[in-house]
Amino acid sequence: MSILKCGASKKDITPNFEEMGDIQVAGYLTMQAPKFKEVHDPIHVRAMVLSDNTTKIVLVSVECIGLLADFIDRVRDRLRALGYKERQIYIFSTHTHAGPDTMGLWGPILGKSGINWKYQFFLVDTIVEAVKEAEQDMKEVELYRAKSSLTNLVENYRDEKIINGDLNLLKFMANNQVVACLWTYSAQPEITTRENLAISGDYPGLVSTMIEKEFGGVSLFGLGICGAQSPIYCEQGFEKMELFSNEVFSELKKLFNGAEKVEVGPIEIRHRKIKAKIENPDFQLLFTLGIFERELEDEKATTTVSKIRIGNVHLVHLPGEVFPGLFKKTLDENPDKDILFISNSNDSIGYLIPPEQYRLKPQVWVDDIENGKFIGHETESIGLEVAKTISKLVRELFYYKTVMAIGPHADDLTIWAGGTLKKLSSEGNKLICVRITDDYGDCVGLTKEQGIKRNRIEVERAYKTIGADEIIHLDYPTDSLAGADYLELRGKLIYLMRKYKPDIVVSFDLNGTDEENMDHIITAKAVNEACWQSSFALYYPEHLEEGLEIHAIGERYLFARNPTVINFHVDITDFVDDKVKSITQQKEVMKNWFYQNTLLARANHLYIELLEEDVPNAIRVNLLVKYVYGETGKKYGVKYAEEFNKIDAGFLEDLASD
Ligand SMILES: [Zn+2]
Repeated sequence: MSILKCGASKKDITPNFEEMGDIQVAGYLTMQAPKFKEVHDPIHVRAMVLSDNTTKIVLVSVECIGLLADFIDRVRDRLRALGYKERQIYIFSTHTHAGPDTMGLWGPILGKSGINWKYQFFLVDTIVEAVKEAEQDMKEVELYRAKSSLTNLVENYRDEKIINGDLNLLKFMANNQVVACLWTYSAQPEITTRENLAISGDYPGLVSTMIEKEFGGVSLFGLGICGAQSPIYCEQGFEKMELFSNEVFSELKKLFNGAEKVEVGPIEIRHRKIKAKIENPDFQLLFTLGIFERELEDEKATTTVSKIRIGNVHLVHLPGEVFPGLFKKTLDENPDKDILFISNSNDSIGYLIPPEQYRLKPQVWVDDIENGKFIGHETESIGLEVAKTISKLVRELFYYKTVMAIGPHADDLTIWAGGTLKKLSSEGNKLICVRITDDYGDCVGLTKEQGIKRNRIEVERAYKTIGADEIIHLDYPTDSLAGADYLELRGKLIYLMRKYKPDIVVSFDLNGTDEENMDHIITAKAVNEACWQSSFALYYPEHLEEGLEIHAIGERYLFARNPTVINFHVDITDFVDDKVKSITQQKEVMKNWFYQNTLLARANHLYIELLEEDVPNAIRVNLLVKYVYGETGKKYGVKYAEEFNKIDAGFLEDLASD
């Protein structure tokens, strides 16, 4: 039984004009943006911390136009001190068009950033404070879910036939009290007029405050699928904003009262970094002018796409404003999953437009209607490429894989791929660990039988640490595979592949050089041959007679002592401690490993303090793993990484039609 804990808090972020100076009005296209004169309604940061006692995440809704990844990085740096890793942090803007310029796009004159740094630092501080406060009173909660559609309140100004009216509610309750809620809606908060000089959270701010007054708790708003979707009272001012808010609130009230309890499960995070190509020349100019401070690599900006799963609820966090239709395939492929999209989360890279709706004419934004047809708004999109990348990635985030890791010895999988396997398993993929031999000799001062017994217990513990769902021992005598029946071994591996149908196989690489361990070589040969032979119907027909089916392997992640081909790396920064733990848990194997290396050092007349002095093996493993995989990480600009020769569809990929 999974449990879920929740804490929440709310803090005012209305700027103090006297202390902070000029605050630029953000949101509407203009050459010279004005500054704020007054406050209509105060704006807020609302934070929610969720935990299942193993994994903790923080969700923060900020009432502002948008937040770029470099701002998010400042907050992440501060939250790291509280123990949060990047993948646990989700900060999204409500996109109010009546808040401070937090992105720099609305300066007082063309080419000058509109950011007020006093305000910006105040915002970082306040978000961190809100998270700290939310953490202080975490209660065990029940999760309630309701949704509805309010298409009558939105219009699509590009294509009136396409409308998304999704109104979503997640309610977190403890002892019949609302601790927090998260609601999403798809209309852009742009009901204030273009001439407006008063701070306002627009309808999301007003509605959230109404929810908090009526039901208690803290109400976070996430902008849903919002691209090209204006409220019906677009730019009509505060009176209409109140009218609009009342209508949204009255529907939300029904959802609040009718929400149904849903099962919670462990919090599962899938967090991916992508390189977003800046194709639009207007955006390139913003980087050239230094209005955007982010560094580009090859005209690409690094951004993130993530999915959080709690039970059957999937929260997809997107770095821009998503258009209806972009995730049609994902939705079609996952009819049973409960999916919510949050735009402008952890970045704000502009419109994410599906290819069929894309009409790039960035230079004509001043006159955006041509022959009655909408053109030119693509000026707010960085390009077509990024939408395609994100749409494909989101599909992948919903695909759960079976991973089969095969090693001859207890420590092979944990040492070479422990971080990657832990990452894959913690993302909800199924992990099957296969150990080919019994490791009878990998011990110090034990009998053969004691060695076998001891190592089996310890390897099971280690594989469970990296998340194994199943552990299979083939029990060949260790360091003797060269004398084993090769065809029989290959047949056993093919049998397992046909039985478990893995999508990914992780094992030794045939391309490694200078390998002195024959078990590693035979394993590499047998596994890699099994990977393609598993789909040959005439091989090992007895499997098929038994009722199994042929199976083709999609991907192989291959490692080697001295690899010659490396084409793929996995950032294991968040999982390096699990890797260390799993290796350390193989006490007998590690005892022998350090003992053998001490003998080798002595044979070479070397004195190595780490080996000779009485240092616990756990400390030795920690030092070595962090050194070796830290060096690998440096190559890729991350703290720790594992690298592989990845074999997949290869040239077939080029032939595929989407
Ligand atoms: Zn080995």
